[in-house]
Amino acid sequence: MSIGFEIDERVADIARRTTEFVRNTVLPAEEASGGNVHAGPEPLRRRLQEAARAAGVFAPHAGRAWGGLGLDLCGQAVVFEAAGYSLLGPLALNCAAPDEGNMHLLEAVATEKQKERYLRPLAAGETRSCFAMTEPAPGAGSDPRALSTTATRTGRGWRIDGRKWFISGADGAAFAICMARTSGTPGDPGGATMFLVDAANPGMKITRNIDTLDQGLFGGHSELVLDGCEVDDDAVLGEPDQGFAYAQVRLGPARMTHCMRWLGAARRAQDIALERAADRSAFGRPLAELGMVQQLLADSEIDIETGRAMLWRACWELDQGRPAAQHTSIAKTYVSEAVNRVVDRAVQVCGALGISGDAPLSRLYREVRPFRIYDGPSETHRWAIAKRAVRAARERRAAR
Ligand SMILES: Cc1cc2nc3c(=O)[nH]c(=O)nc-3n(C[C@H](O)[C@H](O)[C@H](O)COP(=O)(O)OP(=O)(O)OC[C@H]3O[C@@H](n4cnc5c(N)ncnc54)[C@H](O)[C@@H]3O)c2cc1C
Repeated sequence: MSIGFEIDERVADIARRTTEFVRNTVLPAEEASGGNVHAGPEPLRRRLQEAARAAGVFAPHAGRAWGGLGLDLCGQAVVFEAAGYSLLGPLALNCAAPDEGNMHLLEAVATEKQKERYLRPLAAGETRSCFAMTEPAPGAGSDPRALSTTATRTGRGWRIDGRKWFISGADGAAFAICMARTSGTPGDPGGATMFLVDAANPGMKITRNIDTLDQGLFGGHSELVLDGCEVDDDAVLGEPDQGFAYAQVRLGPARMTHCMRWLGAARRAQDIALERAADRSAFGRPLAELGMVQQLLADSEIDIETGRAMLWRACWELDQGRPAAQHTSIAKTYVSEAVNRVVDRAVQVCGALGISGDAPLSRLYREVRPFRIYDGPSETHRWAIAKRAVRAARERRAAR
């Protein structure tokens, strides 16, 4: 058995170039836009992605067959963190949510024809996509089994009816990967199917773009109505009734890639706090020499290091082809909370400056809060972590 934290030379090189690219090209663009890209400014996205391509850091996660750099999750963990140093870094590298998770899902599940039609332009940055699972109450949220959007058989395909909300990037997306119930009733553990629905389909409409705390996800978050939305059989992604299983294919790694990107944001917040603590004096000495400020700074270093260690462990498990549900739940819960603590402490160290628009901290503060809710709220993960731990303890006892 070997345990190592050596970073592969190729990955280290891509990460170095990403850091440089983010510093020289992306951070100035973030400053100019105030990090607010909910309106989906296409010229900005195109310009940043062109620059990322020229820097050789475009689509680090996508397979080489699709024009990407083909990194495994451990490699992505290093590069995505470097990209996440700016709110617009992941967008520039075409590794932002939800497109990055959708590329992974399409690579794993789509037919060759579907890959050519949907994955190739998505990986090239020619199109954007969205993933439509969550519904307003009483539909699917933390509990996906509450899925109430239905897809029923027609003569030549399916008819989808239902409502979705908080669908990130839907406004401007070329297509949605939409979860609908094809058997059973809300509350049943199975019976979901994934459908590829083109944005041009007259049966799918955006009814509003939701006003939210965060502003940094390209295209924002929308509410959709599917009303008599007709699709052909070849719109089914994978097998009918296997949608919940495919959701796990997407969600395990997608949770980890969110952790990677937000760790980059935490690192940036901590760097700002460190600089401020070194430069600003109070009561005759730099803030950095005041014990309680030191504690804030030290606790954030600990949070970043422990979060990264959990994340890398979970990525390693996934790269070995293991399900890693417990490791990804633990890492997601810890990192989402740690990142919030780090940004919050950085705001505190910077005082009034921290909550002003003069420093990017107030922007980061807004952006990281929702991460404790999406990809499974902390409470849902803790509930699942405890259940798995108890089950394992019972199995150990039964084996004695
Ligand atoms: C910024 C943002 C972007 C999103 N993007 C997308 C997207 O692109 N596509 C998509 O389909 N969805 C998206 N979502 C939706 C997201 O997946 C859901 O918000 C999330 O799954 C929680 O569901 P809910 O909001 O319905 O909360 P609910 O299910 O109503 O849960 C509310 C609260 O109940 C508590 N709770 C839940 N389960 C348990 C439990 N087992 N034990 C104890 N307490 C529990 C938690 O505190 C939780 O926060 C996004 C959400 C946000 C905030």
